[in-house]
Amino acid sequence: MINFQYARATDVADAVRQIAADPTAKLIAGGTNLIDLMKEDVERPSRLIDISRLPLKTVEETAGGGLRIGALVPNSDLAYHPLVTQRYPMLGSAILAGASQQLRNMASTGGNLLQRTRCYYFYDTATPCNKREPGSGCSAIKGLNRMHAILGASEACIATHPSDMCVALAALDAKVHIVGPERERAIAFSDFHRLPGDTPQRDTNLRSNEIVTAVELPAQGFAAHYTYLKIRDRLSYAFALVSVAAALELEGDTIKEARLALGGVAHKPWRDTTAEATLRGQAANPAVFSRAADLLLRDARGYAHNAFKIDLAHRAIVRALTQAARGTPQSQSSKKIA
Ligand SMILES: Cc1cc2nc3c(=O)[nH]c(=O)nc-3n(C[C@H](O)[C@H](O)[C@H](O)COP(=O)(O)OP(=O)(O)OC[C@H]3O[C@@H](n4cnc5c(N)ncnc54)[C@H](O)[C@@H]3O)c2cc1C
Ligand code: SF4
Repeated sequence: MINFQYARATDVADAVRQIAADPTAKLIAGGTNLIDLMKEDVERPSRLIDISRLPLKTVEETAGGGLRIGALVPNSDLAYHPLVTQRYPMLGSAILAGASQQLRNMASTGGNLLQRTRCYYFYDTATPCNKREPGSGCSAIKGLNRMHAILGASEACIATHPSDMCVALAALDAKVHIVGPERERAIAFSDFHRLPGDTPQRDTNLRSNEIVTAVELPAQGFAAHYTYLKIRDRLSYAFALVSVAAALELEGDTIKEARLALGGVAHKPWRDTTAEATLRGQAANPAVFSRAADLLLRDARGYAHNAFKIDLAHRAIVRALTQAARGTPQSQSSKKIA
């Protein structure tokens, strides 16, 4: 067991002050990921700054008709919040596809964004891993890589981001609100997480002296036509092999607006606006969905054990968009489209 100090932040400014003062400190919210990593000796903070009591637990409507979700809103509360179930059911569905009820009760919105990869080698301190120890090598590229990335990977790291919630947030075009020592800023969700490149140790564009305070959703929630489809080895308590957040706005059978993001395939939730653009103005049918999947997966590359994900992702995209178009997000309705 490593020795560490524990301090409780009194407000957001105090949390920022404390994290900015000590580069070896870590913020702790629900602790469901960080404590595991400390037990495995992957994270070794000198100091834990407990932010779990800060007043960031509200879900509020914004002036623009959207939603502002405090960084400490527990995943369970968010999934079952009436504004989410009515207006952003894809988000609730994605959250409920992850972890277990007990974990979701503890896990926070901010912590979910910042949870680290589930690459087996990242957790195994006896093996080289560029994310854990920059420059040591990547054990997964020539090792067991069944769970790993097929899009946006690099020679340094082929890990995936494990979150379900973040895939829905990417598709919903969320923004992340951040407070640092000098200023507050907001980042588009697609710019929050990073691709590995040659600095896989950095998962996000959050600076080490900043704290996430909220996630904001725009007004459009795609409540009528959405699906979050998660394909995994077990029906519960397993991370995604591939997941798809699909949302459509339809006029009759014609697609007016489309959103498409994938989980379990890249170092970040993979949203492809080019694939979305090809859907707009088209009839909602499987041939059109298949073309969008071809486009989204155009640069996909498999490794020894995960090449199956390319075909799996293609089929999952077509199925998710088909369910979204039918307005049957979780069911196998026999109602035909097109
Ligand atoms: C067995 C198991 C199964 C799981 N299955 C799934 C799954 O299927 N799908 C899924 O999506 N997730 C899954 N999870 C992950 C779970 O969702 C995350 O552990 C959880 O969301 C993390 O939130 P937390 O508040 O506990 O974060 P913590 O563990 O407290 O923190 C995680 C990281 O976030 C940082 N942090 C926390 N809050 C902030 C903030 N406001 N600003 C800046 N940094 C912050 C911390 O410093 C730390 O680095 C699983 C977890 C476990 C243990
Ligand atoms: S894929 Fe990334 S996290 Fe996994 S061993 Fe390679 S460098 Fe480490």
